[in-house]
Amino acid sequence: MTRRTQVVVIGGGQAGLAAGYHLRRLGLDFVILDAQAGAGGAWQHAWDSLHLFSPAAYSSLPGRPMPIQAGKVYPNAAHVVDYLTAYEQRYELPVHRPVRVDGVHRDGQLLRVESDSGTWRARAVISATGTWWRPFLPAVPGRDVFRGRKLHTVEYRTPADFTGQHVVVVGGGNSGAQIAADLAYDTELTWVTQRPARFLADDIDGRALFDAATARRRALDAGTADTGGVASLGDIVAVPPVREARDTGLLKASPMFTRLTADGVEWADGTVAEADAIIWCTGFRPALSHLAPLGLRGPRGHIPTTGTQAVGEPRLHLLGYGDWTGPASATLIGVGRPARDAAHEIAALLNGTRSAPRN
Ligand code: FAD
Repeated sequence: MTRRTQVVVIGGGQAGLAAGYHLRRLGLDFVILDAQAGAGGAWQHAWDSLHLFSPAAYSSLPGRPMPIQAGKVYPNAAHVVDYLTAYEQRYELPVHRPVRVDGVHRDGQLLRVESDSGTWRARAVISATGTWWRPFLPAVPGRDVFRGRKLHTVEYRTPADFTGQHVVVVGGGNSGAQIAADLAYDTELTWVTQRPARFLADDIDGRALFDAATARRRALDAGTADTGGVASLGDIVAVPPVREARDTGLLKASPMFTRLTADGVEWADGTVAEADAIIWCTGFRPALSHLAPLGLRGPRGHIPTTGTQAVGEPRLHLLGYGDWTGPASATLIGVGRPARDAAHEIAALLNGTRSAPRN
């Protein structure tokens, strides 16, 4: 079955919903296709203790502030799922689930979106499929030799699965630090990071990160010196559990090992650490395989964009994948602005007018 609409949004996580909010405000006809069975995007799959690194007010999508979670400054993932569920209901966003998009193709004046639930033809597409679905594992010698459990961030749930075991956590970002802190009390933990762990000052949380990203965007818009944005401040937000484990002396990072053995890891000087399990908190790549038929792939697996618009296909916008699709666009509070820009540019394209200047 083939259906027609003006815009197809692929992905019904926070980025897809923010896009839907702005498309609706502009009166455009659109659908949101989402591969998950329920609302909430990647937040449905977070580990049990995951908390946001920003308070609720700084974790809101356009139009509707996230309510405060009772008894918590930093809401947990379940609260985000509830918020996103209520958000799509409040704005009556036309989310179709579960619908997995397999490919986006050029089809004359239109783009053809093929999925496991049929085909849509549209004048524009917003891709908002996130990164959680493409976990990244670095090539480390011996990775296949290791006989213990191997997990990525996406598979980690709770320290109870590792009680009393030797666990190696790899990664110096927020996921690595938070999962290491989670495991620090009940396991024999080895936490390794590529470069020395860089904790942000204790009073810096997602609010300051968002302000830094905003300052960077303003500087870039104004053509003044790049402020360096978020990365210049550090890598790890010292959320309360991370701070607690660090201050108790349980969160000490070792340098990256050079190879895996059958039973653990080994450093260049011959030091070894035993491991029953290794958890790779080594990041993600954008989930873009459905766009392969358009042949737009650029360096580092990204698709070159101006703002959110694909350079090689003006009817396609990419939203929420990281700073390359808008400063802080991979955060709840940061995705609102690029979502608005994408919706306005699509409206202008559909009207045959130039898009309004950004402000
Ligand atoms: P997702 O939530 O991944 O949603 C994408 C949706 O698209 C999913 O439902 C997926 O199933 C669907 N999809 C994928 N491929 C297809 C396809 N081919 N067809 C149809 N549907 C498809 N941000 C903050 O603001 N604050 C935080 O504290 C914070 N903490 C984080 C902690 C961790 C560990 C991680 C990994 C991220 C964190 N983020 C945080 C960043 C960010 O908010 C999340 O990654 C967020 O889930 C990204 O939203 P999204 O809508 O872009 O992608």
